[in-house]
Amino acid sequence: MLIGGAWRPALSGQTIVVENPGRREPIGEVPRGDAADVDLAVDAAAAAFQAWSRVAARDRGRLLLAIGEALEARQEELARLIASETGNALRTQARGEARMVADAFRYFGGLAGELKGVTIPLGEGQLSYSRREPIGVVGAIVPWNAPAQLAALKIAPAVCAGNTIVLKAAEDAPLAVLMIAGICQDHLPPGVVNVVTGYGKECGEPLAAHPLVRKVSFTGSTAVGKSIMRAAAERVAPVSLELGGKSPSIVYPDADEDWVLDGIVASMRFTRQSQSCTAGSRLFLHADIFDSFLDRLVARVSALKIGDPLDEATDIGSVINERQFTKICGYVSEGLSRAESRLVTGGMPPQEGPLTRGYFAVPTIFADTSNAWRLAREEIFGPVLVAIPWTDEEEAIRMANDSHYGLAAYIWSRDIGRALRAAHAVEAGWVQVNQGGGQALGQSYGGIKESGIGREMSLEGMLDSFTETKSVNVNLALPPP
Ligand code: NAD
Repeated sequence: MLIGGAWRPALSGQTIVVENPGRREPIGEVPRGDAADVDLAVDAAAAAFQAWSRVAARDRGRLLLAIGEALEARQEELARLIASETGNALRTQARGEARMVADAFRYFGGLAGELKGVTIPLGEGQLSYSRREPIGVVGAIVPWNAPAQLAALKIAPAVCAGNTIVLKAAEDAPLAVLMIAGICQDHLPPGVVNVVTGYGKECGEPLAAHPLVRKVSFTGSTAVGKSIMRAAAERVAPVSLELGGKSPSIVYPDADEDWVLDGIVASMRFTRQSQSCTAGSRLFLHADIFDSFLDRLVARVSALKIGDPLDEATDIGSVINERQFTKICGYVSEGLSRAESRLVTGGMPPQEGPLTRGYFAVPTIFADTSNAWRLAREEIFGPVLVAIPWTDEEEAIRMANDSHYGLAAYIWSRDIGRALRAAHAVEAGWVQVNQGGGQALGQSYGGIKESGIGREMSLEGMLDSFTETKSVNVNLALPPP
């Protein structure tokens, strides 16, 4: 773990073995940190805060730009590490993630000059202005599905704004995060960036509850997000939460079929085993195109090659671990057991052959499911897509919004007026029209309802999540003669 500028084992001496889930082979070992290690890391961050918060913002930005350059120079190494520990395919996923990590440091480094306040015209004899001040020690917790990108999107804006940070990496994928921490350490004073590794209960919980942690920034499941919020409420610490999703795609009958086919493969994130919070996992297809479209979608999905994450020919890698694999199989078997639902492609993973070497799930589509079933309501975090027909636009939007999540939504129509009406009517923080991807730095990203609180990836996100506004009023009136 990186604590106060030094690499340390857990005080308990215990470790966690990290596996390549595509090969079920150990690839590393990290400390199994607990509350005692978290205390050390938070103390180091608190000690570093005084000096770091006083460094001129542009100088902090310059250091982040240098980190971005160093990350870019080691992009391929980072991408291979991400692929090895997450099972995400190197060519289709991990290289893009490594590029995003370098870009995130450069983007936020460049924004350092925007940590500005405002002046308020209160009249002659008054100067009223605001300052954007850092909050203090940020406690950040990230999951394993895009571990490097999610860590960079917390470290870069938090540190740019003058905070110091203790980040807990996910127990399944801590190696890429530790590599990023090492590169940060080459450029920053000790204690500004600290990374601890360990399990959620043992290491994440004490971090979120630590009295010196003044802000908690969490990405992960909705269930854990709620417990983080409860712990933060005890000391009225602000939280930002990027949580789960069950995002709808609404396809109108006039949509361009080829675009939609590529777009649904992309929005469902099949090439990251659909282990994505923004996966468009509920497909509302107009009844007129339902069967013909699904036939063509099956052909597209079947052409994707599942295999070893590090193999350049692989489109789809493995899921993260046995627990996720078993969970996904449970949902598939539930779909298979329902007489009303129709398996269109996929199903249970193969029982023999090369794919039994790792945790490989197969892209699976069920048609004629009900929006009321568990399959259509719960976040599976695996490649199981449910397709539901509709005929009336209002009904489609009502079904799309009938979810306690509100992260992403995808709308497909050639009639742009209609598409935008739907885009405005869906309850989601992030909407794509006629495309499946599109996440970009600069655009505020985050969820509504039980998908989260707060925004990331943008100037607005940095200011709202990682600064406090202080208002200062000054009496400029001349004293009476
Ligand atoms: P998770 O909530 O189980 O774990 C996430 C992190 O929290 C891990 O580091 C874990 O160790 C830690 N943790 C677990 N229990 C904790 C506790 N009691 N206190 C403090 N920390 C704890 O989630 P996961 O299964 O690792 O990740 C998948 C989830 O993350 C999905 O729900 C997905 O939608 C969500 N996610 C959301 C976004 C987003 O931007 N909205 C992005 C990626 C993933």
